[in-house]
Amino acid sequence: MTDLADRLRAALDHAEAVARAATAGPWHALDGGVVDDDHEQWPVADTDSKRNREDRVFIAANHPVHVMRAIAAHREVLRHHFKTPAEHHPGYDCAWCRYHWPCFDVENLASIYLPDLDQGEPR
Ligand SMILES: [Zn+2]
Repeated sequence: MTDLADRLRAALDHAEAVARAATAGPWHALDGGVVDDDHEQWPVADTDSKRNREDRVFIAANHPVHVMRAIAAHREVLRHHFKTPAEHHPGYDCAWCRYHWPCFDVENLASIYLPDLDQGEPR
């Protein structure tokens, strides 16, 4: 069984690879699509949504550079919050916040990167 932190690191690696493969940001939303800093325009968020403009603004705001910054911040959280043997009870605690493993911060990261994680699964 792979540790939750290992699965999170793998999910962060995957998310980063997806962001790196995309056109570098920042992106800017226009009426006809999204443009990069070179003013190259391509259709993004061509949806049937009545909020097509808002969808493009949202997608442009979540461009690859932004996503990679978020991933870097999440890696820092995971670097500090790791599993360590508990001192006062059987099992494990978080080395940073001393709460039971996995702590709230790691659970929050798992909710982003491992949304299908079985909550009853050993961590
Ligand atoms: Zn913690």
